[in-house]
Amino acid sequence: MYPVKERLHGVLETLPPGVRLVAISKYHPAEYIMAAYEEGQRVFGESHEQEIREKHTVLPKDIEWHFIGHLQTNKVKYIVPYITMIEAVDSLKLLREIEKQAAKVERTVKVLLELHIAEEATKYGLTPDDCRALLAGGEWRQMEHVRICGLMMMASNVDDEGQIAREFQTAADFFDEVKAGFFADDPEFCERSWGMSDDYSIAVNHRSTMVRIGTAIFGPRVY
Ligand SMILES: *Cc1c(COP(=O)(O)O)cnc(C)c1O
Repeated sequence: MYPVKERLHGVLETLPPGVRLVAISKYHPAEYIMAAYEEGQRVFGESHEQEIREKHTVLPKDIEWHFIGHLQTNKVKYIVPYITMIEAVDSLKLLREIEKQAAKVERTVKVLLELHIAEEATKYGLTPDDCRALLAGGEWRQMEHVRICGLMMMASNVDDEGQIAREFQTAADFFDEVKAGFFADDPEFCERSWGMSDDYSIAVNHRSTMVRIGTAIFGPRVY
């Protein structure tokens, strides 16, 4: 088996205090998750509804599951009964569906708004303007089963560390704007989810509070 325990500790040792690890276990077997679990890791992230459902069913119930992928509205009802956080909310439509389904099962689901800053045209997410418009619309304030806890973003997949750093900084500045404009009195709006295996050491220098790391812990994914 891949040396998950050693890799996990290797990553944890490099994280500054205040930065939480979301171990991204997509495409990796339940045994790998258990290896990390036995070392104390409790927060895991997955990006496919069926895969997370299967893993949630067989793995310990005190695991905190984060959904990190693009979520179709028709899949929301399947994950809402047990999901802790949906990290990549990129539309009001999706937010409404989470509210509706979470109300049915009397849960509150934490969400992050996914910010699109990277240059790649293919990535999902809200541009800063989309994000401002969604928040200014105010409908989210009436949603009692959804709690917006911060922002999530992915930097461009490039070698230029300067560009990656600029994108994280843009996200951090935007967080401050949104915090001051809409969440000044809400201590729960505090999460900045950025940083993956290749760029988390840059992300933590730009105020990430949550890093989403897969490959550096579990090895290459077999699709
Ligand atoms: C797969 C994935 C990650 C983890 O990527 P690694 O490079 O394996 O660390 C992080 N965030 C999102 C949104 C992902 O889809």
